[in-house]
Amino acid sequence: MSKLNELTIKEAQEGLRSKKFTAVELTQACLDRIKERNKDINAFITVCEESALEEARIADGLLNSGQDAPLTGIPFSVKDAICTAGVRSTGSAKILDNYIPPFDATVIGKIRKQGGVLLGKNNCDAFGHGASNENSMYGPVRNPYDLSKVAGGSSGGSAAAVADNMSIFSIAEDTGGSIRQPASFCGMAGFRPTYGRNSRFGIMPMASSLDTVGPITKTVYDSALIMQQIAGADSLDATTIVDSAPDYLKNFEQDLKGMRVGIPKEYFSALGGPASGGEFKLDDEVKEITAKQIDKLKELGCTIEEISLPHTKYAIAVYYILVPSEDSSNLGRLDGIRYGSRQKGKDLYDLYATSRAEGFPEEVKRRILIGTYALSAGYYDAYYKKAQTVRTLIKKDFDEAFKKVDVLITPTSPFAAFGVGEKKDDPLAMYLADVMVSPAAIAGVPALSVPSGKNAAGLPIGVQIIGSRKNEEAIFRVGNKIEIRG
Ligand code: GLN
Repeated sequence: MSKLNELTIKEAQEGLRSKKFTAVELTQACLDRIKERNKDINAFITVCEESALEEARIADGLLNSGQDAPLTGIPFSVKDAICTAGVRSTGSAKILDNYIPPFDATVIGKIRKQGGVLLGKNNCDAFGHGASNENSMYGPVRNPYDLSKVAGGSSGGSAAAVADNMSIFSIAEDTGGSIRQPASFCGMAGFRPTYGRNSRFGIMPMASSLDTVGPITKTVYDSALIMQQIAGADSLDATTIVDSAPDYLKNFEQDLKGMRVGIPKEYFSALGGPASGGEFKLDDEVKEITAKQIDKLKELGCTIEEISLPHTKYAIAVYYILVPSEDSSNLGRLDGIRYGSRQKGKDLYDLYATSRAEGFPEEVKRRILIGTYALSAGYYDAYYKKAQTVRTLIKKDFDEAFKKVDVLITPTSPFAAFGVGEKKDDPLAMYLADVMVSPAAIAGVPALSVPSGKNAAGLPIGVQIIGSRKNEEAIFRVGNKIEIRG
């Protein structure tokens, strides 16, 4: 048998219920691994050693008395931009260095009420701004497959913690790729649900019209299992979908005969262009691995059809107007008065200015400046309103595509994990890394990055499966048949 910390959620559930091991032993195995590896990988900002063991003892009690729920006794971690009651939640920015939320995010509350064991909080790009985890004020996260590479971002700590077997699963946030891209860089399954499927309550808001919360897990099955537990309407988030979420495990194993798969040609040619501030070339090995997954789907009885999403080339430009605009507005609440750390100032304005100057990293400041400019009188129509108009066109591309096909297959990222420091000082190059994950986010449709093997250098590559609004089930069915673990 694998070491306890190497188990999937499903395997851990079975072991706990058949009394092969206890929740305390399982939790201790994860804590030992964190102690051994976190100094090199930096996936955790806060580790809750004592409370985790206490929660595990309670979980063992529930398991022994038959009062257990599906996630009782399963150790998990949470992106630090998600609020956890009584546990420091910094968003990876010093302005919240001492912030201890008095409440759990709705999705975290659902897991903790079942007896899930909170191991600690995962490092991320500050407030989710980034694609490499280098915009954290707590240092970069290193890729467990090669410590000289980034883990991806913004949920790099979540992906690395699960990939390195420090945590059994992690809950993260995806506004424009932050679950899928790090999952792809670290060989994990990363799922972004339909916008509104999971409550955003208690997630530090980044761009409210795009923010979603979802799991990073070792297998696609585990992602479906977590969605089963956290999805659903919430009176604390008015944007949640009111109809009840489907049973994600019911048709999970069903074969794929007759499934219509679309290949959007724009993802395989030179994307970007002047509208996106640059171009990129799709890496040959990524192309090859994606093609192999498409061949596999053909063998499994899917019909494959090339389709077009013509407005894809505007996605980065649209995203980097809408997101900083919403960011700049949401971050207004962090003023040194209401939450977290406060710096001294000679008057109120000076207090705001110094608290924000010292508490935010460079990328957060950049977004506040861009967003404030894009929303200002005289520029609003030219930037924000125009971006919203083009957003509708991008969304319509997906609506048209899903009249013809059930799911779309694309690479998750144009390349495998890049070097620490390689793009850090080039914000536009960093923005372009989102070229394949931002369109689905702009359209609000669900998408999964599924582990699909490794390149010659031994770095994991993910393939993205995009589905139509609320059709998460089709994505899981496809992902289950093509995932390549290890
Ligand atoms: N790379 C994207 C950004 O920096 C990802 C954001 C996210 O999904 N949180 O905006």
